[in-house]
Amino acid sequence: MFSRRQLLIGAGSLSLLTMVSPRGFSQQKKSTRIILLGTKGGPSLGTSGRSNPSTLILINDIPYIIDCGYGTSRQLLSAGVSLNKLRYIFITHHHSDHNLEYGPLFYNAWITGLPIQVDAYGPSGLGKMTQDFFNYLKFDIETRIVDEGRPDPRKLIVAHDFNKPGILFENDDVKVSSCLVRHPPIKLAFAYRFDAKDRSVVISGDTAYAPELAEFARGADVLVHEVMYLPGVEALIKQLPNARRLREHLMAAHTLPEDVGKIADRAGVNTLVLSHFVPGDAPSITDEQWSDSVRKHFKGRIIVGKDLMEI
Ligand SMILES: [Zn+2]
Ligand SMILES: [Zn+2]
Repeated sequence: MFSRRQLLIGAGSLSLLTMVSPRGFSQQKKSTRIILLGTKGGPSLGTSGRSNPSTLILINDIPYIIDCGYGTSRQLLSAGVSLNKLRYIFITHHHSDHNLEYGPLFYNAWITGLPIQVDAYGPSGLGKMTQDFFNYLKFDIETRIVDEGRPDPRKLIVAHDFNKPGILFENDDVKVSSCLVRHPPIKLAFAYRFDAKDRSVVISGDTAYAPELAEFARGADVLVHEVMYLPGVEALIKQLPNARRLREHLMAAHTLPEDVGKIADRAGVNTLVLSHFVPGDAPSITDEQWSDSVRKHFKGRIIVGKDLMEI
């Protein structure tokens, strides 16, 4: 894989930075970095400091962005990634908390300047959504092409729709594959797995308890899994006229902490990261409340995710 000389050169150029670890140790920067851009489940804009869902994986400094909730561009900048470095986008499913900023993220990269060449992957409908976004901004885009001499952005992105799980692509750095998960009423909801040379990372997307996800994540170093805390949800929805229906939907579509623990245990991952919190705007729920029931089943390292946390 790497010669000793390459490793030494690489090590010399790395800076030390503080990594999240249970003991708070600083670790040396890895070539695969995971940064949580937005950890709040759901489309509403929060007041608790959590941005809408998005996760960044940097592999040899190339960004792979999984989901584009509102605020993703800004969070990417806050993570220190220039927007014109945008290269790969993955959408797990077509709920708006996962795709609302898909078009705008690409637009923001384009307006930042070249070089950009983006490949986007997502369930069926992504290509149409991409075209629709360009239609939505047709006037602005065509004005800027003529007036400012910019390249045509429609030629700088390829949307790859898919409707079956499997290997999506492989390059020199990483193999990316997908797994169908359970998120009714949406039929096409996928988890993604990134097998890089130094780490493997699985992002659950939105899912109810899905044992097949544990198989998919088997042996991964890091599993980023969504989570729903039922007492918190019940406290929030009890006043609503549609509380019963809403509770049924949430129970069918998301995963309770103890079930997240079962998935992580069955998968045998080293580190479990909780993200996509439902409810996402309830700062009174402590890290212990999010993780206690998880810990009953999973003995590995558990991280309660926060925006811009690096793992
Ligand atoms: Zn969601
Ligand atoms: Zn969803």
